Amino acid sequence: MHAGSRVLVTGGAGFIGSHLCRRLLDDGYDVICVDNFYSSSRDNVLPLLENPRFELLRHDVTFPLYVEVDQIYSLACPASPIHYQRDPVQTTKTSVHGSINMLGLARRTGARILLASTSEVYGDPQQHPQTEEYWGNVNPIGVRSCYDEGKRCAETLFFDYWRQHRTPIKIARIFNTYGPNMHPLDGRVVSSFIVQALTGQPITIFGSGQQSRSFAYVDDLVEGLIRLMNSSAHVTGPINLGNPNEFTIAELAEQVMAATGCEVPIDYRRLPSDDPVCRRPDITKAQELLDWSPHVSLAVGLPKTIDYFRDVLANRWPAGSEPPRFSQPL
Ligand code: NAD
Ligand code: UDP
Repeated sequence: MHAGSRVLVTGGAGFIGSHLCRRLLDDGYDVICVDNFYSSSRDNVLPLLENPRFELLRHDVTFPLYVEVDQIYSLACPASPIHYQRDPVQTTKTSVHGSINMLGLARRTGARILLASTSEVYGDPQQHPQTEEYWGNVNPIGVRSCYDEGKRCAETLFFDYWRQHRTPIKIARIFNTYGPNMHPLDGRVVSSFIVQALTGQPITIFGSGQQSRSFAYVDDLVEGLIRLMNSSAHVTGPINLGNPNEFTIAELAEQVMAATGCEVPIDYRRLPSDDPVCRRPDITKAQELLDWSPHVSLAVGLPKTIDYFRDVLANRWPAGSEPPRFSQPL
């Protein structure tokens, strides 16, 4: 792949997609960003619209798409529980029909295609940390299943296109990622805690707060995705991409209060159904095959993210206005 090659990013207006589009443009690629704005808006890509090598298409990936491209990053799918549970049938369709359509496009054009899969394929894991060989512990009929099983089926489709049609595939299993351009009300833990602290609202901890997650900063993740896409043809994945630094949710709340300088009360709420107890990636494969490791610790990434949300809040919720309202996943 060389500068000037054309890259399609589905879900390109979302949190991770918008960073990926910007980075690909910086690297000299032509970028087609496809999004139906289900869980995002044009705001994340507004600064990119001035670039003549950037093209934005409003399109739902559950319908076929005809464009000519060299690489496809398949990111379209709502990622936060409140977004993916709002219309669960559409979530499954996005992963399954969307993957079939994008794999068909890859087959026709000969493009490489990368799936943004997820640590959710491990469900509530009984192996810790999680290696790619672990098959997971997923409830097939719960409220998270539309997302978890949708991504598991997408992985199956990717591997069957590779086995049956030799379509060049790459699968990244992404662990919790945070950073600027997250939607302030998407309900994910990092964005919620920051917005709550900055607006003087109680931090909502679901359950006891002793469940754990491992948080990767978005720049590290984007670097991993690009390395995986451009890795040797025999590297299909799945490959875990995430930061093995593991924190309890209660520890995260403490860190957010310290980094924002805002002490707010904790509001303990009911733990949503099937909420995994722990999450930590084993990243040996990414280190060995991609020479990739994350470099941005939570202590460095949180302040950058907080700066972003300070700006967003000042524009959307100026002092004196009603504070943003959060909902909770099922
Ligand atoms: P996001 O919700 O910000 O971005 C997803 C984008 O996909 C949005 O812009 C949304 O409008 C778009 N989209 C949804 N359905 C679509 C459809 N049918 N057609 C076209 N566009 C559609 O979420 P994100 O955090 O940027 O996640 C991006 C990808 O990475 C997702 O596939 C997600 O499953 C995966 N992922 C993210 C994380 C994370 O922690 N952020 C973790 C694991 C996996
Ligand atoms: N969480 C929380 N309060 C919130 C949002 C999330 O305690 O306001 C918890 C949630 O129950 C989960 C963890 O934080 O245990 C991570 O949630 P998120 O939705 O960010 O990601 P996921 O559960 O998909 O890893």
